[in-house]
Amino acid sequence: MTKTAMKETAAIPSLDKALAFAGRAHKLFISGHWVEPLEEESFSTENPATGKSLAVVAKATAPDVDRAVAAARAAMNASEWSEMKPAARAKLMFRLADALEANIDEFAALESLDNGKPVRDARYFDLPHAIETIRYNAGWATKLNGESIALSGPGTWHAYTLREPVGVVAQIVPWNAPLAMAAAKIAPALAAGCAIILKPAEETPLTALRLAHLIEEVGFPAGAFNLLTGFGDTAGAALTAHPDVDKVTFTGSTEVGRLILKAAAGNFKRVTLELGGKTPVIVMPDANVAQAIEGAARSIFTNTGQVCNAGSRLFVHQSHFDEVVEGVSKIAKSIKIGSGLDSDTQMGPVISRIQRDRVRGYVNSGVQSGAMLYAGGEELDREGYFVSPTILTNTDASMAVRREEIFGPVLCAMSFGDDELDQIAANANASDYGLGAIIWTNNLSAAHLLARKLKAGTVRVNGGGLDPALPFGGFKQSGWGRENGREGIEAYTETKAVAVAL
Ligand code: ADP
Repeated sequence: MTKTAMKETAAIPSLDKALAFAGRAHKLFISGHWVEPLEEESFSTENPATGKSLAVVAKATAPDVDRAVAAARAAMNASEWSEMKPAARAKLMFRLADALEANIDEFAALESLDNGKPVRDARYFDLPHAIETIRYNAGWATKLNGESIALSGPGTWHAYTLREPVGVVAQIVPWNAPLAMAAAKIAPALAAGCAIILKPAEETPLTALRLAHLIEEVGFPAGAFNLLTGFGDTAGAALTAHPDVDKVTFTGSTEVGRLILKAAAGNFKRVTLELGGKTPVIVMPDANVAQAIEGAARSIFTNTGQVCNAGSRLFVHQSHFDEVVEGVSKIAKSIKIGSGLDSDTQMGPVISRIQRDRVRGYVNSGVQSGAMLYAGGEELDREGYFVSPTILTNTDASMAVRREEIFGPVLCAMSFGDDELDQIAANANASDYGLGAIIWTNNLSAAHLLARKLKAGTVRVNGGGLDPALPFGGFKQSGWGRENGREGIEAYTETKAVAVAL
């Protein structure tokens, strides 16, 4: 690191620990041991704020997938994990959450180094959310029950259902919120008593690796949790096609989700997919405009727009359109862009050169097809992968910027007139995606009526964020199934019906 960089980052707590962890040798975690990949390959990751090398990580390939799946299957067959009492599973998970909390600053610094996000966001959002997700699901371990059922056929029956763990689960997560995504996957699976193979994104393996060390320390039985670092088209593809994997859960692009569905068909794996989004933000005539401006900016610029649920299409009633777009633009222009480790940074880089070029490509294609650049769009000439917060107006529904998920800080703003709610909903629903929708209004009836009409897995009115208790997932091409809440943990179980003639 240069002297200036040292000065900027001197105040980041536990950065030294995070850098030391990043710099060590990283192996695969299989059956309770740290092992070299069988084909002995590794790959380098980079810090997206500098484009420089950050860590060298083991590269799992198909033979490692076979080993990890065998280890998970062995854990499902061994009494230590499969017969562990629910309260004991919960206790291990509470210990894991405590261990994460005890190391929260190191994890936040590691996430910022790896992903580029402002360390403050990691420390005060990603980490608390991951910890809370583990605790929330730990609580479910002791409350996952079947039910007794009254049968109507002749005879006397005692009929009931059992909820059994689905078995060996492959969990593939993306790079935008690496630890929070990993927690959302592993916590319900462990609470339900499944055995896991987690594969973090190749861009951001570090917090998952550090988490695996904590899982080892708190004492989960061998094979209940396995970690494979590696690439999607090799390790990921081998996991999703593996005949001894019972379920695959994935968060990432719709394109890869489609590949996973096909790969999972071989042995009819259970599949949960949390995919892309093109979330509409609707500002109604009676909205609190100041709050709507702030909320609209937050929902597209947080995490440099690399959020599946980012509010990327802004529909504003014509009476507020100029004020709202000007307000969001003012915020866009004031955002301090820089390294996540610089304490005043509000927006970090995007994850990679490819992603930066992709975002720029979308903005250019929008402008070429007639959109107007209201704010941003300029290329930032600095090391690392930075893009500026951008607002496009004069778009139409056929443009790629309106239809496709950009996964960057690019907002399309549109106005609407005194339309019926059906028309407002139809405009918002004009997308292949259906992950989220955000409404700003003080009209109670309009809020609830619109919520019913919107084709989205989560509808938020006047703000609100993620919560491990609130089901999350998508309609249409935004995915299959739900994470979080009761549904999220039940998705890691099979229902068995038992009928006993008395
Ligand atoms: P993004 O477009 O956000 O990079 P991806 O959907 O490409 O997201 O990747 C998210 C995760 O999916 C990563 O862990 C990546 O390695 C994995 N992945 C990519 N391609 C495949 C594939 N063909 N099979 C399984 N996993 C994959």
